[in-house]
Amino acid sequence: MELLDFDIVILGTGIAGMTAAIHATEASKGRLRIALVSKLHAMRSHSVCAEGGISGVLYTENSDDSFQLHAYDTIKGSDYLADQDAVELLVRNAPHEIRFFEHLGVPWDRNDKARISQRPFGGMSIPRTAFAADKTGFFMMRALYDTVTGYENVQLFNECMATSLFTEKGRFLGIFSIDLGTGKSILFKAKACIIATGGFARVFSVTTTSYATTGDGIALAYRAGLPLKDMEFIQFHPTTLIPSGILITEAARGEGGYLLNSQGKRFMEAYAKSKMELAPRDIISRAIISEIDAGRGFKHDKSGLDYVELDLRHLKGRIDEKLPMIRDICTKMLNLDPVNEPIPVRPAAHFTMGGIHTSIDGKIMAGPSSSETEGLWAIGECGSVSVHGANRLGSNSLSQCAVWGRIAGRDAAKYALDAKSKGSDGLMDRAIGEEERIGRLLGNRGSEDPYELMHEMQNTLERSFYVYRRMGEMARAAKKLAAIRARYKDVYVTDKKHIYNTNLRDVIEIGNMLDLAVAVAECASRRKETRGAHAVVEYPEREDKSWLKHTIIQMHGEKQVVSYIPVNITKWQPQKRVY
Ligand SMILES: Cc1cc2nc3c(=O)[nH]c(=O)nc-3n(C[C@H](O)[C@H](O)[C@H](O)COP(=O)(O)OP(=O)(O)OC[C@H]3O[C@@H](n4cnc5c(N)ncnc54)[C@H](O)[C@@H]3O)c2cc1C
Repeated sequence: MELLDFDIVILGTGIAGMTAAIHATEASKGRLRIALVSKLHAMRSHSVCAEGGISGVLYTENSDDSFQLHAYDTIKGSDYLADQDAVELLVRNAPHEIRFFEHLGVPWDRNDKARISQRPFGGMSIPRTAFAADKTGFFMMRALYDTVTGYENVQLFNECMATSLFTEKGRFLGIFSIDLGTGKSILFKAKACIIATGGFARVFSVTTTSYATTGDGIALAYRAGLPLKDMEFIQFHPTTLIPSGILITEAARGEGGYLLNSQGKRFMEAYAKSKMELAPRDIISRAIISEIDAGRGFKHDKSGLDYVELDLRHLKGRIDEKLPMIRDICTKMLNLDPVNEPIPVRPAAHFTMGGIHTSIDGKIMAGPSSSETEGLWAIGECGSVSVHGANRLGSNSLSQCAVWGRIAGRDAAKYALDAKSKGSDGLMDRAIGEEERIGRLLGNRGSEDPYELMHEMQNTLERSFYVYRRMGEMARAAKKLAAIRARYKDVYVTDKKHIYNTNLRDVIEIGNMLDLAVAVAECASRRKETRGAHAVVEYPEREDKSWLKHTIIQMHGEKQVVSYIPVNITKWQPQKRVY
């Protein structure tokens, strides 16, 4: 096993992780040695897929926009579960971050007054989403990658997969990982660690996210005994291509696309009269499923999937300029040109609002409401700083990655510069224990097919934790998921080699997803209300009296313990959510 000693280790090279690397470098004037670790090549991180844009109030003169309005939209969009102090921090810092990315080289679309263009997005009162065509994530990632690879103090470990996080009494000690290319173990020892490993929407069978979005960092933290927050809130994006689940960005509706049922009607009028197709995603996803359930959907011949139509035909001229990738995707995947035909769409898992429980500064908490850990941050989609609450507004995630990338990068740098070297007794023994566990997994000749377990898990979640949920079904599914997880110990790995063993990688990811799937089910099956993306048929209303609270789940040994903490309300008292 190779032992590598750094000042800061950052897990993840998406927009959150690479942004943190830049700010930690700048804050320390390049004095800190930073390891930037990614199980993929950095530029294949999920963030490259982000399409529609990044939110932020850029211009207030001659405009009705304001920080207050962005905060209000986000809080209302979250169905009042967002922590309002965190939302205020997000909206105040987002504009600066958009300009920061411009300085890094992102070619923001500009209007005829040479200002950064902003397009409308769901649940936003005003157009405030900056974009680079429909390839925003790609351009942001390219700018970040070009910058971090120019820093001498940052060392990139591409295709290096973390499997375990070591802490001692809430203090960060190290990360165990496997160099996928060689199969060799690497133990990263550092003063500080920033986890930026993305979300876990791959626990569903149909999702818009990349194959690597398996929630590894969240599972690592969970198994290290750290608390997770609001795991029941999974966002289903209303417009994904059938049958693949490839995203048709909300920008398609922002640019003016309509949703039509089988009677040719813009049905959103019945669900969100004032916002129509630009209502928040939870509301549109429910509307689509309600239309389908009422017999006003279409059926896809090959897959048998029900769907509605997204009509862009009236946008002819704008499609090539503003939505070139969408035209390309439809042409290649369905042999359908959106200039001439409507696009068949239905909701699919897209974003995970829950994640590692953090403070407002992105510091990982040690317990439900107790003190912070030492030297550990979680940012981007894996961290639940709770700006999205029960339902994220589109384009707020990239701002979250950028804002907390800066905060955590700077804070971790300060911490690492000030930290006195403390002992890390037992770290090597624990790493050897983890190396042996992985060795046993590789040698396992059990009876369980890992891919079968994964499909059972994904189908169970898809069936019982989709857009509409039912109490009895969730309880049964929770038991079933626990049973599937228990079978994981008998899983077999077919490929016994060490060099680029993708089979072993998959099995580790499946283990992570199973832990998180059980956590989702445990949290969801307790919440007796409809709030944001958690819509329960038997409890169709939001119940603030009993349920205006965050769910926390933590592992105590083999037991999962669920508890609740209050939501931080500053200025915006919960109101009925009407659009
Ligand atoms: C198709 C699509 C389009 C989207 N468009 C938008 C948009 O326009 N605007 C918006 O605001 N949001 C959008 N989102 C959401 C947004 O893209 C994500 O929330 C955001 O990019 C997450 O970034 P991240 O840095 O947290 O993680 P990611 O970009 O997911 O990166 C995770 C990193 O962690 C690494 N990693 C994971 N596990 C391990 C491990 N075990 N060991 C080592 N490394 C590991 C990965 O290799 C990767 O580098 C979109 C989502 C999807 C699915």
